[in-house]
Amino acid sequence: MIDADVVVGLEVHCQLDTKSKLFCGCSTDYRNDGPNTHVCPVCLGLPGTMPVLNKRVIEYAMKVAKSVNCTIADESEFARKNYFYPDLNKAYQITQYDKPLALGGYVEIEGDDGKERKIQLTRIHVEEDPGRLVHMGNAERGRYSLVDYNRAGIPLIEIVSEPDMRSPKEARKFLNKLRATLEYLGVFDSEKEGSLRVDANISLRGSERVEIKNITSYKGVEKALTFEVTRQKNLIRRGLKVERETRHYLEARGITQSARSKEMENDYRYFPEPDLRPLHVQSWLKDIVLPELPDARRERFVQQYGCSLNHARTLTGELKMANFFEAVVAHDTGVCSLAATWIADTLAGELNYRSMGIDAVDPIKFGGLLALLKEGSITDKSGVEVLREMLDAVKQQKVPEDPKTIVNRLDLWKISETGSASSGVILPKIGQISLEVVIENVKKANPKAVDDYHAGRKGALNFLVGQVMKETRGKFDPSDINRYVTESLGDTLKK
Ligand SMILES: [Zn+2]
Repeated sequence: MIDADVVVGLEVHCQLDTKSKLFCGCSTDYRNDGPNTHVCPVCLGLPGTMPVLNKRVIEYAMKVAKSVNCTIADESEFARKNYFYPDLNKAYQITQYDKPLALGGYVEIEGDDGKERKIQLTRIHVEEDPGRLVHMGNAERGRYSLVDYNRAGIPLIEIVSEPDMRSPKEARKFLNKLRATLEYLGVFDSEKEGSLRVDANISLRGSERVEIKNITSYKGVEKALTFEVTRQKNLIRRGLKVERETRHYLEARGITQSARSKEMENDYRYFPEPDLRPLHVQSWLKDIVLPELPDARRERFVQQYGCSLNHARTLTGELKMANFFEAVVAHDTGVCSLAATWIADTLAGELNYRSMGIDAVDPIKFGGLLALLKEGSITDKSGVEVLREMLDAVKQQKVPEDPKTIVNRLDLWKISETGSASSGVILPKIGQISLEVVIENVKKANPKAVDDYHAGRKGALNFLVGQVMKETRGKFDPSDINRYVTESLGDTLKK
């Protein structure tokens, strides 16, 4: 739904996937280790320590900036953002303020109206992540909190968009595109917990702007914004004013809640970081080489494999899915169109349902399934059944069987057409019962539907076909069943 009155802007914080932290040599690979094990005097902010800039972080940030068409500033500068909070051991965060690394740029998305839209960016800057508080109990009533500085000093980039999105859905598309781009660049791992955090600004035209802080999931952004649109519209409908404020998103309850206090920009007393020199990195740009990015790969999938635009968009929207598709068709270029449909539509849905990643699927076994579908040995419905068997096996940490083995075990081989009822040829058999008998049984059990059909109600045919399909457990093509049932009903009419 396009809502002309909704205005959304996002600030996206992404952890860059470097080996060491932004200003010290501590490892960034902290997630499976105990608290406060990846720390040193620098990232603990002990007096007398000096930050040393990790060059790789700037290279990664420049890659991102180049990929989304930003201009790299001639001079950029780090600044101290001063505030006190237990997760910020120095009592200031090193970030960039009035001289960010990169300016402008845009991310192209498919807008709600179906047309390509450029979402303009304001800036990209580099900063350090603070530590992490672990509240014992809950944040309001817990007796105490623990602090873990493993995350302190992890490199972040903040990508700030203009208020250019027109709906919560566009905000989600923007994020998806950004995530895909960062993954293609190899600078970001979206699967790491907490690797992406979003602050969202939202207003209804003519009303005050509300900021929602610290949303930690992709789905959360769309949900929080959708909640805010409804809340703000309700206020206006009741003749009340939307307050300019900061709100928190409570993920578990799916609502936003007013934050009690709000720092203003000037409360942070920004000033240039005296321990780091200004950056002049324009000349590095020529050495920043970009890989194939999502848009280019999407175009290639259309040209090279004949994918539909929609399928190409879905397949290339995630690096792993795009790689999986190419691994499958590398073995058999004859299955391109089947592979596109089955991966983008069926497999994606089945994986999502099971909260599984596409890494769980073996492209060769998946290709084996497509081969069976391509040669017409099983119906689409049986194909889904085989796929589910394969995924459920992985879910139970078993090695999935070969598709053919599954088809044998479940007796899913399609019975092909051997003739038609009217020609007197015996219909294909399911076990020992012929399709003809099944159809007769269904007709006997549903006399009203048969009468309805002869009274000219076509819906009755669909019902009867559905009943026969149910009885024959997907072993026949629906189009074959449709024809047999129609012929059979025609005979009844003659009698
Ligand atoms: Zn350190």
